[in-house]
Amino acid sequence: MNNYDEEVVLLLQDKVRLIPSGRTSIYLVGPIKMPINLQGKVVDFTWYSWLKGEETMGNITCMIDRLSRANLAELQQSSVLVYGDIQHAEQSLIRFHSICHTGDIFGSKRCDCGYQLKQSMAQIVDHGHGALFYLANHEGRGIGLFSKAIAYILQENGYDTVDANLKLGFVDDARDYGDAIEVLKTFRTKPVTLITNNPRKLEALLKAGMSIRGRVPLWGDVSEYNEKYLKTKMERSGHLNSRGDHKGLFTLN
Ligand SMILES: [Zn+2]
Repeated sequence: MNNYDEEVVLLLQDKVRLIPSGRTSIYLVGPIKMPINLQGKVVDFTWYSWLKGEETMGNITCMIDRLSRANLAELQQSSVLVYGDIQHAEQSLIRFHSICHTGDIFGSKRCDCGYQLKQSMAQIVDHGHGALFYLANHEGRGIGLFSKAIAYILQENGYDTVDANLKLGFVDDARDYGDAIEVLKTFRTKPVTLITNNPRKLEALLKAGMSIRGRVPLWGDVSEYNEKYLKTKMERSGHLNSRGDHKGLFTLN
């Protein structure tokens, strides 16, 4: 190793955490300053990204050494925006947001993802403390962007979101929250309030041993373009309505 490498390692050693996760490990890098234009105002978030190794990649030096050969641009990495002191705050708002290339980036009206992303960031800032996890391997409920395009063609021909995924050989919802929860636990062990309509996210947190203080529903931006999509979420995917009383699923306050 040359001197330059040692300098790099020194710069990074307080910014890269190794989180053991079963037989693998998660490298969490951050905090990184992230000023964000939110509804015309600049808000100071801090940003972290993480990478899960299929095998333990060893210490920081080994990890850096392998980065340039890892071809990470071909894969998706997740990240989290943190606002305020989420470690100590009595109540913290958490959002697990599944990536939506079409909704979040292009502003597609076929779904409500773009609205949910901006709205949950604004809610976290209004509240004063929280974190938005942006989950990069969740495109199309975990089927990937190309498959989502195929599923959209089925949807344009009468299939709903659930049936389109099933017809293509996928399960309705393949999303896993395990890594995000491991990362959340490094920030906070106190109870969290989740911004979600999705009971599976609440169940995943409870299963992982996190305690939940409450749930903030997130509905809005209903239009002629996404009405059927939202109805399917409620009727077939068990999403909770704003009162949280859909089909007898548990309600948290
Ligand atoms: Zn979407």
